[in-house]
Amino acid sequence: MYLKKLEIFGFKSFADKVDIEFKDGITAIVGPNGSGKSNVSDAIKWVLGEQRIKYLRGSKMEDVIFSGTKVRKSLGYAQVSLTIDNESGVFPIEYTEISVTRRLYRSGDSEYYINKSLCRLKDIQDLFLDTGLGKEGYSIIGQGKIDHIVSSNPQDRRLILEEATGIVKYKNRKLESERK
Ligand code: ATP
Ligand code: MG
Repeated sequence: MYLKKLEIFGFKSFADKVDIEFKDGITAIVGPNGSGKSNVSDAIKWVLGEQRIKYLRGSKMEDVIFSGTKVRKSLGYAQVSLTIDNESGVFPIEYTEISVTRRLYRSGDSEYYINKSLCRLKDIQDLFLDTGLGKEGYSIIGQGKIDHIVSSNPQDRRLILEEATGIVKYKNRKLESERK
């Protein structure tokens, strides 16, 4: 499983559609301060279902939509699609490639898609649970995260291990059925 392509439109500083293709090996994104490097990783977190705006470096969700510049009008929606290779069958679906899309309008309306079919946020979150790619996963190590893991209390560290070993999905289902 690996990331193949990230398509961004109207998300943060990306007013024009930008396609980033990830080739084999390591990809590094370089550029001057403020050029949008961190916005790329924010876009990945966002499309994977991140709902906590502080982890996206904003104060309200609308902040992820391109807000315009002196010479450019703001946009009405933000959209990010991420295509992930599934040759190894990590995702329990019959496709060898999987794409997830998230769109947010200024009205606050959101849309989510898996392989171009409309779905719920929960479907996306469920899809990534136990793959290491989910929002609580260990695949995105932000600044300070290593410090946080090393210095976290045993309960929090256990959560990371639970995600890594693939039991979070079952814990969530148990909680859900207890609530019903
Ligand atoms: P550094 O090297 O300092 O970490 P960076 O390349 O990671 O910089 P980012 O933090 O990704 O830069 O990008 C910051 C830029 O994104 C700022 O110029 C900011 O104005 C712009 N930006 C963030 N949100 C929006 C938005 N909603 N609309 C337009 N521009 C935005
Ligand atoms: Mg940065």
